Amino acid sequence: MKRVFNFSAGPSVLPEDVLREAQAEMLDYKGSGMSVLEMSHRSSWYEAIIAETEALLREQMNIPENYKVLFLQGGASTQFYMIPMNLMKNKKIDFIHTGAWSKAAIKEAKMLADVNVAASSEDKNYNYIPEFPEFRADADYVHIVNNNTIYGTRYTELPDTKGVPLVGDMSSNILSEPVDVTKYGLIFAGAQKNLGPAGVTIVIIREDLVGLAPENTPSMINYKTHVDSGSMFNTPACYSIYLVGKVLKWVKNFGGIDAIYANNLKKANMLYDYLDSSDFFRATVEKKDRSLMNVPFLSPNADLDKKFVKEAEAAGLVNLKGHRSVGGMRASIYNAMPVEGVATLVDFMKKFAEANK
Ligand SMILES: *Cc1c(COP(=O)(O)O)cnc(C)c1O
Repeated sequence: MKRVFNFSAGPSVLPEDVLREAQAEMLDYKGSGMSVLEMSHRSSWYEAIIAETEALLREQMNIPENYKVLFLQGGASTQFYMIPMNLMKNKKIDFIHTGAWSKAAIKEAKMLADVNVAASSEDKNYNYIPEFPEFRADADYVHIVNNNTIYGTRYTELPDTKGVPLVGDMSSNILSEPVDVTKYGLIFAGAQKNLGPAGVTIVIIREDLVGLAPENTPSMINYKTHVDSGSMFNTPACYSIYLVGKVLKWVKNFGGIDAIYANNLKKANMLYDYLDSSDFFRATVEKKDRSLMNVPFLSPNADLDKKFVKEAEAAGLVNLKGHRSVGGMRASIYNAMPVEGVATLVDFMKKFAEANK
């Protein structure tokens, strides 16, 4: 068996220990005589799994009592319309537009409400986080994308929304750094980047924002349905939730989010320091706004980009091709990417630069 270093933006690398544990439990989960894949979600076995997963998420993210945790389906993209359908009273939504994922959310919100793009970084192909604007005082919420997976930017500070609920898309950076949950009305994240496999989407919602949806809101789209049923209104993404639980245990054993964050800083600095010192490669994002999770970079030209991606793959460093809207390369170095993976990448980059300059 040979495992590569997988720099995929999502679905992405999972901790090897998590995969091995799942493998060991595949045929007989803790003496149940069956796989978690085969279990009723109403069984006591499964109820324990989902309860433990929620407890671990609460513990690791320090989620206060007055926030509900939901395990939903439909990906982060479903939240782009589920959030407005639940939170809009005045039908006014403010956005900070920082790339492809805010664009997609804006498109959905526009079908339902009056959208105000209060600030944007489109002028420089989204390579920075814009200065914080004033928001409408009667906006229903302000939507930000905390980590921009495609362009490689992240927020290191939060805008002051003056009491308007802040909604954070943390799909690609949840659990990567400490978060003050109390600053948000709602946090959401598709699991497949930093939290587990595809299939489950985490929503963390402040209690007072539950139950605001109009009466004619379809049940599956109403947060209250899922709050009232403990994410078991219908069959949840059972196996994905089980693996998220394992990833959370791995985070805990790692030393919690502070230890994970320190490790992420170490990995990101290793890569950015090399990029900044190189006269061959360069990072595309302004220093103050650089993502710890997704690192886009360029070689001197598109032909060399292509050659780099191809040769890296042959060396066991895979999925480094950049998103088509940025070009070049992107290394996604989520929590589960070991330091050794980044060190191997930097080493390979040095050799490639030497051979091709
Ligand atoms: C991947 C991603 C999404 C979309 O997630 P899906 O689960 O595929 O719908 C949304 N926002 C961000 C920041 C992402 O990285």
